[in-house]
Amino acid sequence: MTFPPIREELRGIEPYGAPQLPVDLVPVQLNVNENPYAPSAAVVADVATSVAQATTSLNRYPDREFTDLRAGLAAYLSGDSAGVPVAPEQVWAANGSNEVMLQLLQAFGGPGRTAVSFAPTYSMYPEYARDTHTRWLTGRRESDFSLDLDAARELVEAERPSVVLLPSPNNPTGTALPPEAVTMLCEAVGDGGVVVVDEAYGEFRRAGTPSALELLPVHRNLVVSRTMSKAFALAGARLGYLAAAAEICDAVRVVRLPYHLSAVTQAVALAALRHAPELLGRVDDLRAERDATVSWLRGQGLDVADSDANFVLFGTFADRHAVWQALLDQGVLIRETGPDGWLRVSVGTAEEMTSFKHALTRALKEIA
Ligand SMILES: *Cc1c(COP(=O)(O)O)cnc(C)c1O
Repeated sequence: MTFPPIREELRGIEPYGAPQLPVDLVPVQLNVNENPYAPSAAVVADVATSVAQATTSLNRYPDREFTDLRAGLAAYLSGDSAGVPVAPEQVWAANGSNEVMLQLLQAFGGPGRTAVSFAPTYSMYPEYARDTHTRWLTGRRESDFSLDLDAARELVEAERPSVVLLPSPNNPTGTALPPEAVTMLCEAVGDGGVVVVDEAYGEFRRAGTPSALELLPVHRNLVVSRTMSKAFALAGARLGYLAAAAEICDAVRVVRLPYHLSAVTQAVALAALRHAPELLGRVDDLRAERDATVSWLRGQGLDVADSDANFVLFGTFADRHAVWQALLDQGVLIRETGPDGWLRVSVGTAEEMTSFKHALTRALKEIA
């Protein structure tokens, strides 16, 4: 027997995660789509006060139903859904949207059931399926990374998935799903499954790109997942959430661990919501910087995917690892991900993007 006695299918598998390198070694970190702007002194002070307040009762378990936070998140979502109200009982939260989506697979996946996505897409999805013994299946995207709606419908009708999981905007391509795609998928899946639209980057969408939140009143099997990790500039706090029919939230409550959201997490997230306008205040700058990065990369003669997110996928390189390494050697860390030959850069501050452009210009000269 080999020790430890881990499940056979997990033996030898490396834990998922992008390289985390110290900032003093690599000053420009553009690899995990974080918001580059740290909280202001005013936000720091309010979060600290809230945490101190929560600390006075840390001998007690936290509010298992995180009632205040659900109300706060519902109010926030109601302001980002073109007037479609979201009620507190339609909201669920956990320690990052990764945990939210794992809970969705725990509740709606499982042995004998199938989860479907469309590649290239987020590399964590197959892990939720593996960890919940759910069969995992991917359809393809077109060469511009959009969905072929007829092919997607055929796949869903043939495989009858109980979960369809796809990001909009998609990671790593930045592609948003049009509302017709969400509607088609919800109708094709029907009451036999849920359609999870992962809007981790939703707040970065371009003007004219609607959120799937607007479709919640139309499709009772639609789940829209959001996070405080990206636009909200709070990746370190670990808070993700979803909006869906109350029955879906109740189903997820069955599989959650008791008291999964600590009193400290709830206090931090509530403080962050009070400062939402400020924390989200740089989103417009980041969108402008993203659009400028797309144009600049195209100006270099590269292929660049249209992006509704805070990152840009560009290529293609015969040896993308060499380009990635040449950037790293100049102190710029980006991500080697996506289809063969492509690289992904997160949108940072204007100064960081200048460093990225200099480093890439040099790398392309060296490698050519
Ligand atoms: C970053 C990201 C998330 C967010 O994960 P958290 O656990 O909330 O930090 C979710 N989905 C996608 C596609 C992402 O890229």
